[in-house]
Amino acid sequence: MLEGHGVGLNFAVGTVWRVFRHETLPEWVKSHTTGTDAADEATALRAAISSVASDLDRLAAGADQTSAEIFEALKILLEDEELFGQAQENLLEGWSAAGAFGMAVNTFCELLSGESTLEERVADLQDLSRRVQAKLAGISLTLDLPATGEIILVAEDFSPADTAQFTSAVVGVITIGGGPTSHTSIICRAKGIAAVVAATAASDLQNGQQVLVDPVGDRVVVGGNANQATRAIEFKAGNSEPVITVRANVGNLTDAAAAARTSAQGVGLFRTELLYLNEKLQPSVQRQTTAYAEIFAASPAGPVVVRTIDVASDKPVAFLPLTHETTLAPESLGYRVLQEHREFIQSQLESIETARRQTGREVWVMAPMISSAAEAKDFCDLARSIGDFKVGIMVETPSIASEINRLEGIVDFVSIGTNDLSQYLFSVDRLNPAHGKLLSPWQPKLISTIAQIAKDALAGAIAVGVCGEAASDPLFAIVLAGLGVTSVSASPSQVDSVRDALASVDIETAKMLAARALAANSPESAKAQVLAALED
Ligand code: PEP
Ligand code: MG
Repeated sequence: MLEGHGVGLNFAVGTVWRVFRHETLPEWVKSHTTGTDAADEATALRAAISSVASDLDRLAAGADQTSAEIFEALKILLEDEELFGQAQENLLEGWSAAGAFGMAVNTFCELLSGESTLEERVADLQDLSRRVQAKLAGISLTLDLPATGEIILVAEDFSPADTAQFTSAVVGVITIGGGPTSHTSIICRAKGIAAVVAATAASDLQNGQQVLVDPVGDRVVVGGNANQATRAIEFKAGNSEPVITVRANVGNLTDAAAAARTSAQGVGLFRTELLYLNEKLQPSVQRQTTAYAEIFAASPAGPVVVRTIDVASDKPVAFLPLTHETTLAPESLGYRVLQEHREFIQSQLESIETARRQTGREVWVMAPMISSAAEAKDFCDLARSIGDFKVGIMVETPSIASEINRLEGIVDFVSIGTNDLSQYLFSVDRLNPAHGKLLSPWQPKLISTIAQIAKDALAGAIAVGVCGEAASDPLFAIVLAGLGVTSVSASPSQVDSVRDALASVDIETAKMLAARALAANSPESAKAQVLAALED
């Protein structure tokens, strides 16, 4: 049995499918060390280039028109004869195909560097160089997952580009790294894939082993079966309406359609950055508008709360690069996007406004990672000058959490992002498996911080929601209601369970349970106290 942090309420049984990583490409060597000559290496290089070109054709065939144009442009760069000529010179100096091509790309990049408008081309060329070198080394940069069967993926962690490649054969996911609020967790919860993250002993799992992924039990059972799965508490929705509003978190059209099949009363968090993660260049207003209009139209009835782009080290966007790479702490561009790329946020808000008018939906907008009332005012003024929205901010930094009383008259609502709020409150990286316990929503300091935010918000007539992963836990959602939160937004796969939990109690019971959680001095005791009081 392996321990970890469970994600979601459903279990899965399947066969282990390990995803191996080859993050580092082989070092460049001279061809004489491999026993080949320049002609052999030139042939290998031509073959690798044409194979990457076919990959780009395949990607273009499955993409929308603008992305297809980008893949076409990349192919032209890749097949540039001048680039090949430069590589050939390096081959004649005795370098192997990978080294010769890598160096040729570097030479081209040096020529282009310094021109800000060509920075994108430099990044594209380096990406192509990596793909060609990977082909030459026989390394696959894609996951190549089967389309049928029932597999349980096992890896260190998965990036957004990886999760986009999950097929319907993926019934479960186990990660060695990551945490309850990491990207993998959010995506698995949204797709209803059973997951256990931060299972540090999972590196011992072997391909072909049958395992039970048991999120409710926070464990993986090797050789386990469905009978051993831990069942989630079942709440009986005795009341016709939940004590507070339940909305859904979405990131794309599929999520919006899934949310519309639940009891969600609108969307409480639309993570817009997911639309831009694969974009090399900033999309036009028209393209953004089309994407927003499609998603608004598909969303469940009720308001759609759209968050402007949130760029961070775990959510990189190519055309809005982070200013420095850091391994010391999770980095977020946060409000800096608004300062440094204001024209992009304006284009985003304009697209959202046009899509709002086209679809006739009620749209609210909010900014992520706001640190002060002054930043909040800057965003709200901008948003109100562009569209007919309710305007708010996310509360995910300790600084704004203690300044809610200054937001009166500035924002219409706040939405608490417990994922980042925990990360910054406890100074722990949400991707680091060692910090799972500090990232638990049941941490007493997180609970008392939410209580304070709710109290200050209500005093200023500001609506207060929670859209972090904590709101997808049905039992915790009852505590949130008791703390004074007025709405929660959960992952589509958990909306109905959260709603049932919130329709199983009255507000007085929720308040009593919140008081129990507030009085506890550890996450374990907070949860145990609430469960015991509920059973009484
Ligand atoms: C949060 O931080 O709680 C949140 C909802 O934002 P994200 O998970 O997208 O950073
Ligand atoms: Mg966040």
